[in-house]
Amino acid sequence: MGNDTGNIGRRAGAGAPPDWLVAGRPHVWLPYAQMKTAPMPIPVVRTEGSRLTLADGRVLIDGMSSWWTACHGYNHPHIRENVAAQLEAMPHVMFGGLAHEPAYRLAARLAALAPGDLDHVFFTDSGSVAVEVAAKMAVQYWINRGEQGRTRLLSFRFGYHGDTMGAMSLTDPDEGMHAHFKGYLPEQVFADLPRDEDSTKALDAILQRHRGQLAAAIVEPLVQGAGGMKIHDAATLQRVAEACARHGVLLIADEIMTGFGRTGAMFACAEAGVLPDIMCLSKALTGGTMSLAATLARGHVYEAFLSDTPTAALMHGPTFMGNPLACAAANASLDLFEREPRLAQVAALSARLAADLAPLTGLPGVVDVRVKGAMGAVQLQSPDIPWFRARFLEEGVWIRPFGDIVYLMPAFTIPDDELSQLTGAMVKVVHAYSDRLAP
Ligand SMILES: *Cc1c(COP(=O)(O)O)cnc(C)c1O
Repeated sequence: MGNDTGNIGRRAGAGAPPDWLVAGRPHVWLPYAQMKTAPMPIPVVRTEGSRLTLADGRVLIDGMSSWWTACHGYNHPHIRENVAAQLEAMPHVMFGGLAHEPAYRLAARLAALAPGDLDHVFFTDSGSVAVEVAAKMAVQYWINRGEQGRTRLLSFRFGYHGDTMGAMSLTDPDEGMHAHFKGYLPEQVFADLPRDEDSTKALDAILQRHRGQLAAAIVEPLVQGAGGMKIHDAATLQRVAEACARHGVLLIADEIMTGFGRTGAMFACAEAGVLPDIMCLSKALTGGTMSLAATLARGHVYEAFLSDTPTAALMHGPTFMGNPLACAAANASLDLFEREPRLAQVAALSARLAADLAPLTGLPGVVDVRVKGAMGAVQLQSPDIPWFRARFLEEGVWIRPFGDIVYLMPAFTIPDDELSQLTGAMVKVVHAYSDRLAP
């Protein structure tokens, strides 16, 4: 532990870690971390816009928007004011039997924003649970319609849908940790995205082989995020939707990462002209302020649950369902999408990312450079991730690569000069990596 502290401290010229970090460190189990070797996390004491202020006074420019959530930048005054007012009035009441304006207003607004008749909104607390609810809706939809046996889902290679058991079962088995949980995880069906004629035929064959067993297919529209920032075109997504329609399975769009402007449109499936039966939203829903998620269903899905039989109801209900603080944050975030030119900012950001990162194409060790909306990724040949993370800190930026991907997903509101610092650091560090590879 002492080692880790020194590591980041000395390299980036930081001060000693604060007492609370030293005292709490043995007790906090970190995400996706081998705790024996995990470096000391970096203490943050304040956020503002696209800046993270560290405990020792240093400031990092943020290229991650906190796992892609803080789309308006941190501490946006409009969101802050609305959450503060809601905190005064009512931080929380149970959703069973009681109603409150923030959730009911938000549901109506999401229904109006979402494509087609995705009009029925089920609130949960996290993206993974939104996916669990979508899967339960899909499986029970067929049961309620009198069709038994449709208990599996189809998912795509490089997909990521969350960390709870059902959601994890839908995540690419080669990327995730299915091996540890064999026998406990439901076994789903996997296919390649239908990018061309061959893979479209293969998808059809898989859907045919599992006829009568599949409730739905789930896809991250246009960009597969945690599976490696892999982009596909609208035609590919349309082929997915067509295949689902041909074989009579529901389509779930997991827009948890792509939703709310990240790909350039409010929702990626709308951009591609695809109307899913069920859609999952979370990450940027509250502008990065609170944990909240929503599963939206189309009319025919919702109607399959309307019955005189009590057991036909959707049996789900998180304790903090529709939390008023989170819904107030989400309503304020939607206000900002209405009042401020967010999608135009995404378009400008996209052009800057493309222009600034293009020179990295073709360097030794650089496999691919790709930009979609406010996401710019550089795929590398077996990069040394700890080296990259340390180098970015030295450059005064918060960029956290994973797998073979170094990427930027900043706030849509990031000022030009701060964006230049991010792309400048990216270009400099990838060049240094590439030079190290060159003979
Ligand atoms: C992050 C993510 C999830 C899981 O959301 P959590 O809030 O972390 O549970 C699911 N699907 C996609 C596409 C995601 O990016």
